[in-house]
Amino acid sequence: MRPRSAWPRRAAATTTMPGPEPRPDVGRRGAGQATGAGRLDLDRLLDLLVEAGLLEHALAVDLRMKAALKLRSLERARERTPLADVAVSPAELVASFRLPARGQGTISEQRIQQALADAAGCRYITVDPLRVDANLVVDTISQAYARKNAALPLGHVDGRFVIAIDDPYANDVREAMSARLGIPVELVVAVRGDILRTLEEAFRFRANVKAAVAELGGPGTDFGNLEQLVRLGTGGDSLDGDDSHVVQAVDFLLRYALDQAASDLHVEPKRVASRVRLRIDGVLHNVHELPKVVHNALISRIKTLARLDIAEKRRPQDGRIKIAHREVEVELRISTMPTAFGEKVVVRFFDPGVLLQDLDALGLFSDELQLVRGFVRRPNGLLLVTGPTGSGKTTTLYSALRAVASPTVNVATIEDPIEMVVEEFNQTAVNLKLGLGFDVLLRTLLRQDPDVIMVGEIRDAETARNAVQAALTGHLVLSTLHTNDAPSSIARMIDLGAEPFLLATTMLGAVAQRLLRKVCLSCREQGPIAPDVAVALGMEPREAEGFQVFVGRGCAVCRGTGLKGRIGVFEVMALDERLRKLVLSGADAVEIGRTAQRHGMRTLREAAIKKLALGLTSPAEVLRVTAEGAL
Ligand SMILES: [Zn+2]
Repeated sequence: MRPRSAWPRRAAATTTMPGPEPRPDVGRRGAGQATGAGRLDLDRLLDLLVEAGLLEHALAVDLRMKAALKLRSLERARERTPLADVAVSPAELVASFRLPARGQGTISEQRIQQALADAAGCRYITVDPLRVDANLVVDTISQAYARKNAALPLGHVDGRFVIAIDDPYANDVREAMSARLGIPVELVVAVRGDILRTLEEAFRFRANVKAAVAELGGPGTDFGNLEQLVRLGTGGDSLDGDDSHVVQAVDFLLRYALDQAASDLHVEPKRVASRVRLRIDGVLHNVHELPKVVHNALISRIKTLARLDIAEKRRPQDGRIKIAHREVEVELRISTMPTAFGEKVVVRFFDPGVLLQDLDALGLFSDELQLVRGFVRRPNGLLLVTGPTGSGKTTTLYSALRAVASPTVNVATIEDPIEMVVEEFNQTAVNLKLGLGFDVLLRTLLRQDPDVIMVGEIRDAETARNAVQAALTGHLVLSTLHTNDAPSSIARMIDLGAEPFLLATTMLGAVAQRLLRKVCLSCREQGPIAPDVAVALGMEPREAEGFQVFVGRGCAVCRGTGLKGRIGVFEVMALDERLRKLVLSGADAVEIGRTAQRHGMRTLREAAIKKLALGLTSPAEVLRVTAEGAL
């Protein structure tokens, strides 16, 4: 147990070397008063915050009186967490009061740490767990020392070694680490909780990987022998629950991916290592290089969870896993594929928080939202959502279906595959092995008394005809098509064999969509649009003049990309009388599109530029998503 009474009057810490083993005398807190040269204590922090103009003097005095009581309650709360043996810091204590800051906002731990960094002449950083090299952390510092001092090794920069720490006055850590590493150490300031969490993850994950490597025969083990070792080790041909290190490592990777809001997790065999990458907001990030020896064990564990055949490594397989994450059930789709250096697995996450949204959260402008709401309120008709794979069509369809689902309405779907199970819907998956394509299932479904039907995709003649037929006979039918814009959906349906007359009668409208990455709010900067970008976006010189845009500089929050999160951009075409006549007269997509635009339809690019003007996205994103080829 740690001493309870010493803090907040903490002694200057000892300067013991950080060894590989935990040492009892490192970072111990004594009963004396810290001096100006030593570690930060509460009094000094309060003085500093008052001096920095963040905290009112009177509030500081008041806080000082309430500090001891508050500290005990924070310590009690921490006892039930994995950080029970780690002290509450002065910054954590002050932040827990949520005092109003001078100027505006509250005094958060981030603001305290920023003020501390300024006062100490250090850099302030946000810890990005994806950028932390877990191998380096584990090899540089002992877990006990790292935890005690909340010190997170980040790596070499220009002949210095950078360590993130919550207390920039921890000169003992600077000196000890510098002596140990043989080069100067730079301390950068970060939030204590972020440092401790990242340390915890790095040490726990690496410990599991290390234990797994040891069990599986060390890093030199040949690939071929490994499979046998895995089998011998578990007394059968399946890796199961008793291989706890691998189990925990996989569990950690899945949860970590969910915490980072990743859409996909890749575990890839390379020549000498196994590489783990995450896709976040559409972009892949390297997160781990693991010893090759654990690769097959990780893959086998994931395959076991998905009930796949772990002995089959030459044929691609796919399966599903359901896990509870933060009290929400998340569906994971697993796909395996043989590659040059072994078997690769991709895990795709179907997070209901992302897939199921309210219609008004998708990014539709209010006039567009009104049109879409109007479509789904109709008792019958056909609504098509178009766009390439990964453009958010499924989310839009689910959101639309949820808006109409009620106890009095039978909502039925045919999907390939079911992306997310939604209690209110009756969902059926295409199964070509059993001869159950969209065409066969749609025919069957019509005998199931549906009100609203969602067909995952229209890609054959029979499905196209049946979808129109269903819309004609009193059903609201929603589906997707692979066309670049809304007007082309009509030509595509006719190409597929839909009767123009019936299509003109039943079709309510089409919605084309894409996903735009949003500008990072933490680092965005405003400026005029570059003339060449304005030209590329097809803007008139007059329009471009004074057109302000936001671009992300790149920061820790957005991992240096300047972009964070995504939002839909739409082209909503309602089939009114004019357009119906054009469809009947055999007009092509260009003519239909022009007419729709003349009567108020915003094209994808216009909608994207409108989002650009609102500072939601960057010029490069608008160009990327609405490039000529993609339109
Ligand atoms: Zn940023």
